[in-house]
Amino acid sequence: MKILVINAGSSSLKYQLFDMENENVLVKGLCERIGTTGCITHKVTGAEPYKTDYPMPTHNEAIGLVLSLLTDAEHGVISSIDEIDAVGHRIAHGGEKYKKSTVVDEEVLNYLEGIVPINPLHGPPAILGIRACMSQMENTPQIGVFDTSFYSDIEDFRYIYPLPYKYYEEKQIRRYGFHGTSHRYVASRAAAVVGKDIKDLKIITCHLGNGSSVTAIKNGIAIDTSMGFTPQEGVVMGTRSGSFDPSVLTYIMKTEGLTAEQADNLINKESGLLGISGVSNDARNVSDAAHAGNKRAILAQKIVANSVKKLIGSYFAELNGLDVLVFTAGLGENDNEIRSMICSELDALGIKIDGNKNDNAPHGEEFELTSDGAAVRTFILPTNEELMIARDAAEFVR
Ligand code: ADP
Repeated sequence: MKILVINAGSSSLKYQLFDMENENVLVKGLCERIGTTGCITHKVTGAEPYKTDYPMPTHNEAIGLVLSLLTDAEHGVISSIDEIDAVGHRIAHGGEKYKKSTVVDEEVLNYLEGIVPINPLHGPPAILGIRACMSQMENTPQIGVFDTSFYSDIEDFRYIYPLPYKYYEEKQIRRYGFHGTSHRYVASRAAAVVGKDIKDLKIITCHLGNGSSVTAIKNGIAIDTSMGFTPQEGVVMGTRSGSFDPSVLTYIMKTEGLTAEQADNLINKESGLLGISGVSNDARNVSDAAHAGNKRAILAQKIVANSVKKLIGSYFAELNGLDVLVFTAGLGENDNEIRSMICSELDALGIKIDGNKNDNAPHGEEFELTSDGAAVRTFILPTNEELMIARDAAEFVR
């Protein structure tokens, strides 16, 4: 069985073709500069990447090019697009309706179009990607896999904000949570590596990348997560502030005369690691500056680590204990300094990582960091959202 996974952004589109017999990636690629000049990088497993410029005024041309390369005599791996059994689409937001992955039809698309006001960045490109696939692969099922659906069992007292209740009723303002596909994948890996049923485990998963979130999972169900109405809440991130006193923003807006859009920009694009350090949103550059003695870079690292540590503490309380702590994504998998800062002085909770293992952890592999005798097992588990999406789509085909 072959599954194509599509992750459509506003000007880019990532794709992977899986052979689900062995879950191998046959091809992965990236269309960039959709809407302007257009270019594609297409990499067949085991071959050199093929790169070319190609006009892509819309997502439709991007999907057309992907399908023609997949079936191309030189760069292809299948002889006809009919060999693709289903397409799995990453959809960031499923609103309150989609509590699990689903076959996308006009009704689903209408619902997704209806929630664009609460998902203005990620909604429109995902819809464009799906429509392009629907029109060019008429007989192939299109499966929507929602980042939010992993959080559909979170209880109301954890997702309702402490604002007048009408904002939930009238404007659907509530915690939705994001990165769910990643948290779901690494939680399932955590259960596999400790050799237990996920239904018997309390897990905290830390997805720390340019965007970051922490999720508490009890008996296989996400009970709380740090991102909220938007991916802005929670951990201090590359350019997003994460949580802070909301009155700070209204004060800055009033004193500096910022519009709502400028305020949005401030907390989403100019804050976090970049805003505090003044160096970069990239943790590697901030780390280099910290090593060179840059005080604000050191401060930025401390603030990021502490924001994660506080969430681990509060989720430990909500879970009433913890069996497994997981680090994943760019920083979680690769940044030993941040992991060490987060896990320092958490031994009261049974969390203790081995400094030597942490400093010498291999990149891109599942690896245990637990110190001898620690009650909580701590792991690096590389995420694989595309595989999770492919598995969900394959489930429908089966
Ligand atoms: P995104 O949220 O965009 O998917 P990623 O998961 O790719 O982000 O994570 C990007 C972050 O991971 C950046 O801050 C980057 O500095 C950090 N990162 C990636 N590789 C390393 C590394 N080897 N060491 C430290 N940090 C790393």
